[in-house]
This record gives sequence, C-alpha cells and structure tokens, in this order.
Amino acid sequence: MDTVEALRAVVGETGVLSAADIATRSAGILRPDTLKARALVRPRDTGEVSKTVRWCHDNGVPIVTHGGLTGLVHGADASPEEVIVSLERMRAIELIDPVQRIAVVQAGVTLQALQEAVEPHGLSFPLDLGARGSATLGGNAATNAGGNRVIRYGMMRDMVLGLEVVLADGSILSSMNRLIKNNAGYDLKQVFVGSEGTLGIITRLVLRLREKPSSQDVAIVAVPSFEALTKLLKHIDGSLGGSLSAFEVMWQSFYRLVTSPPARGKPPVGQDHPYYVLIESLGANPKPDSERFVAALESALEAKLISDAAVAQSESDRRAFWALRDDVMQVVVGGMPVVFDISLPLAAMERYVEDLRRDLSAGIGEHRLWIFGHLGDGNLHVIVQVAPQDYMTLRPKIEALVYGPLGRFGGSISAEHGIGLEKKPYLSVCRSESEIALMRLIKKALDPEGILNPGKIL
Ligand code: ZN
Repeated sequence: MDTVEALRAVVGETGVLSAADIATRSAGILRPDTLKARALVRPRDTGEVSKTVRWCHDNGVPIVTHGGLTGLVHGADASPEEVIVSLERMRAIELIDPVQRIAVVQAGVTLQALQEAVEPHGLSFPLDLGARGSATLGGNAATNAGGNRVIRYGMMRDMVLGLEVVLADGSILSSMNRLIKNNAGYDLKQVFVGSEGTLGIITRLVLRLREKPSSQDVAIVAVPSFEALTKLLKHIDGSLGGSLSAFEVMWQSFYRLVTSPPARGKPPVGQDHPYYVLIESLGANPKPDSERFVAALESALEAKLISDAAVAQSESDRRAFWALRDDVMQVVVGGMPVVFDISLPLAAMERYVEDLRRDLSAGIGEHRLWIFGHLGDGNLHVIVQVAPQDYMTLRPKIEALVYGPLGRFGGSISAEHGIGLEKKPYLSVCRSESEIALMRLIKKALDPEGILNPGKIL
C-alpha cells in the first residue's frame, strides 16, 4: 500500500492529497516554487493529527507541518520524501470567554479570524502582522510571531496560556492551561512556542485576550537624527503613561519608497528627513487621549526631537498612515529583495547601519537598501534589493555582511521570523555553544528519530 492510500485509511479519503494533487499549490509567500511531498494530510482534529503522526513515526516517514505558509525563512519547506501535515481544516474557534478573557482555538484558525471574532465581545487579540489574513494561530505560536504591537503586548509567547501538542510518536500532550498565573513546575508550553515544528505539532491553543481599546491616535513624525530617535522613544513612552502601542521607524529610503509612485501612498510629511516614525497610542478615552497624544508630540517638537509631524484626523488617515508602513511589497518592484529581521541594542544600531551601508557598497556593487522596523523592540527589517540575475550569487555575500557583525554588536540574526533552513548556518552568531548543545538535547529527547521538520533550526 502506498503512503497516500495508507494515510487515507487513517484520516479518510478527503483528508489526504497526493503529490499530484498539490503540485500546483504555491510553496508560500514570495515563493516562485510549488509544494512537493509524498502526501499532504489535512486532519480535522487533534485525534487525526495524532493518528497521522503515529503512522509516520511507525513507518519512518518525516513530517513537515504547515500553517498559512507566510513564513520567510524556509521553515516549512518539504521534500518529496516527506509528508506535509496541514492544519487548514482545523479552523474552529471553540470558545471565547469574556469573563476569563481567553479564547480556545484550533491551530488552523487565521489570526484575522480570531481578531474579528473577539471584537463583538469588546475584546481584542493584540498580535498583529501584515500576513494576518493567511497566517494561522498555530503557526504564530510555532514561530513565536512578533509584529507591530510587541512594544505594548509582547510576542505570541506572551499571549499563549496553554496548548495541545502532538508529540513525535503520536502521543498527545494536552496542556490547555487557562490561568494567567500557573507557576507549577516547568512551563511546558514555552518549549513548543518558537520551536518551528521541530518538537511537536501544536493543534489547539488557549490564548489570552485583552480589552478592546476605544481610542486610537496615530501620527507620522520626521526625526532629525538617530540620537533624537532614541530620545523620542523614551519621551513618547514616558508621556503616554503605558498607552504607546507602536513605534515603527522608517529610514528615509524606505519612506520615499512607500510614498512615491508606483506606490500609492502619499507623504504625510516631507521626504527629506533622515528618519520617520509611525507612533500609535491605544487607549480608552478618545478626547483626553488625543489631547495627551498631541501634547506629547508638541513637547517633542519643542525639544527638537521631531522636526515635523502629521497627526491622523480620521479613520481613513489612520489607515493611510499604517498602509505606508505595511506597504512592504514595494521592495519587489524592479529587483529581488533579500529580507532580514535582525535585533540590535539601540545603542549599537546607528553604528551597525553605517558599517553595513559601507560594507554593502564595497562588497556587492549596485543595490538598493531599505531599513525600517519595530525600533521600540530593537528590531530592524533590513532589505537589500539586487538585480534578479545577480540574486543567487549575491545572496550569500549579503547574508554574511548583514549577519557577520551582529555578534560583535550584541545583536540577533532573528528578531521574529525564526531560523528555518535559511539562517541555520548563522545560529552560532547569536547563540553560544552551550545554548545550541541544550537545544540539541531537547530535540533528541522529544524527537529521538528526528522525524519532525527535519533539518530546520539545528
Ligand atoms: Zn516585523
């Protein structure tokens, strides 16, 4: 019996697609290739995931788990020898509890579906990122997603209260904790959050919800220097008393990119400043919140921390400002982008960027460089665009130039995208030998045969 037939016996006829069935399915966002695998299994619940994994385990077949395929580090790549377990049919929101302020979901629910489902309850699920419509909550947990509001609410890790996971032998670990505080022994869920499918398959989650904000103030400001940028972060965060929810910085070249044709965005302030910041505050009292927001900007202007500012006056302004920051797809116009999500201490950031500019000019010749990111979290997205015909040869050089100095500066090769296959060679830039040794020990303990997402991270 071949793999497809055998798996159909486990999860039913419609639960399994053959290699031919998936040959035209895209391998993911920004990917030119299509899916390859022995079979793609679409379980409906944890029990079916468990049976699938048990069959694969007993037959020595490696497994790659798929969520929304919006990852950027080749963390979900499968080969023709592997079986894909896709959670696309596990889309049930099982419970929204407005008293306990939690949601219980299956792992295939998209981020946006949960955001929209909790709203009528006056609640919010504050994780937010550009791929919200496709990215799944299981994938968000497996990769510990970050996004735009980490400065206020933390990363996915901070929103997961409990989870259910199928282990490498097919057994089920149900750890569906609903408590905010549960300090009884090891926090097992955190072993699986950010493990990129290498330690288990997350099938259900208990997620923490927050009260829905009823005021939103947004501005785009121009900033004269990097020093002013770091002072502005302290000034704004201090002045807003806890309501700062985004501090998204755009270097000049990125701001010009998203506010000039063919981009549809218009520049809210002039294009000749070195830095721009999208500042957002979420609160509960529209009028006093707006007054406080504007006062914080005015005092920043007086202190020369900002040189110009545009404050959103309407919902359409707020959307337009956010749309500029989110218009990342402009980086594919006219060339091929190499995309990074590095972390750095704020004190090292300016020097790192200066050095990188110099090293790229000397090392790879003609290119375009864009930098933007979640500065409040020390997270920069560095994008280097080169001509398509040079992409394959230049890519390793660019990676070496971006990652190489990070160790010296105390940075990280991944702030939020994870390691996957893409950054595996560079893991030792920001993790010590003993850290990597313990990671291997955990992998060995939980997946001794190495059948879960083989070759990723380690
Ligand atoms: Zn990001």
